[in-house]
Amino acid sequence: MIVGFIGLGTMGGSMALNIRKAGYDVIVNDLRRELADRHLEAGCTWGESIGKVAEVADVIFTSLPGPREINMVAFDEDGLLAGMKPGAAWFDLSTSAPTAARAIHPRFDAKGIQFLDAPVSGGPTGAASGKLAIWVGGDEATFNKHKAILDAVGDQAKYIGPIGAGSVAKLVHNAAGYTIQAALAEVFTMGVKAGVEPLELWDAIRAGANGRARTFDRLGGEFLQNKWDPPSFMLKLAHKDVTLATQLAREVGVPMRLTNLALEELTEAMNRGWQDRDSRVAMLLQEERAGVLIDESAEDVDATRKKGDF
Ligand code: NAD
Repeated sequence: MIVGFIGLGTMGGSMALNIRKAGYDVIVNDLRRELADRHLEAGCTWGESIGKVAEVADVIFTSLPGPREINMVAFDEDGLLAGMKPGAAWFDLSTSAPTAARAIHPRFDAKGIQFLDAPVSGGPTGAASGKLAIWVGGDEATFNKHKAILDAVGDQAKYIGPIGAGSVAKLVHNAAGYTIQAALAEVFTMGVKAGVEPLELWDAIRAGANGRARTFDRLGGEFLQNKWDPPSFMLKLAHKDVTLATQLAREVGVPMRLTNLALEELTEAMNRGWQDRDSRVAMLLQEERAGVLIDESAEDVDATRKKGDF
């Protein structure tokens, strides 16, 4: 089995090396030839062009900046579509648009080549240590066939669903991360400006309910199960607390854009008459706006939770 790897940058360089370390024959390519020095030293071969890699590889991985580069590598005259063998597979490890992945897929499928979107999460440290999540969308049999190579790249390779599903998971993950990040920056700056030492504050909040929970684990409770009664924390109490926080922010002159937005949500939920339900019931408002109702059984949530324990 010959593995092709295109894009030896911050992420791809280490990922390609880890595939080689797992014992595979790897042919590498990047616009910048010098990036491949350490790969050639480790026993990889150099592919002069994308076409050359496409011609010999049974499975190809790409780690490219974004949709523009992915489309070039796919559809250039000397690109993957023109050169890959029927029966071969292409996993794109870049972060790209689900729409772009869904547009690429049928053109390769028509030639008997499986294209899978497989974005990763874990940063350069994870890429080097092999501790990455890989979220894969596309043909499940192809995912299973090449799972051993994915396991050389990351410790959490997961099949998510049809083409594009991996990218959707990645975008949800990152949007959540950055929104949470902005919110944490907001409340933390308020706390510091209100007179608490940063490390004391950090130490304090880490020991609280949110500090102990892994942020996303919490979604498995009320939100995913559409289960807001009986409450574990009543909406009216949450509304009071967030009102207090925004009042304090006004007192100390800190803008709290996201927290004020969160308070608007809680107020709207209160006006629905939900004050005695669990405070997370405000998440239903966003479900309404999005035209989505999430309502999973407790057993399914539990099974998924166990699957994700690591
Ligand atoms: P990078 O810019 O370091 O690497 C991209 C590589 O692709 C470069 O070495 C570039 O020369 C090469 N390249 C571009 N066009 C090419 C072409 N036509 N032919 C051959 N090689 C080409 O970027 P990165 O940080 O390694 O990220 C790669 C992908 O992974 C991106 O989609 C990024 O969003 C995603 N990602 C990055 C991180 C991170 O922390 N850096 C984490 C998760 C996901």
